[in-house]
Amino acid sequence: MAMFIRVDVDNTVIEKTASLADKLVEVCPVKIFKLASQPNAVEVVEENVDECTLCDLCTQATPEGVRVVKLYE
Ligand code: SF4
Repeated sequence: MAMFIRVDVDNTVIEKTASLADKLVEVCPVKIFKLASQPNAVEVVEENVDECTLCDLCTQATPEGVRVVKLYE
């Protein structure tokens, strides 16, 4: 379980935009997203979550569909 970061995805948002799921998988530099078994949806790869660089590329791709939460400070 990640200690520093939590990444929440809302697939009800992501599935509304064609290829957004693919884009999330592609855009994250540390591979936090993988395609889910259902179409146009992603899953979070828990073991990679603490590698998150807070680059915001995922939230820029879908401000409503992904939330990156810092668990520290
Ligand atoms: S902020 Fe960057 S590193 Fe973190 S999950 Fe989003 S795309 Fe990946």
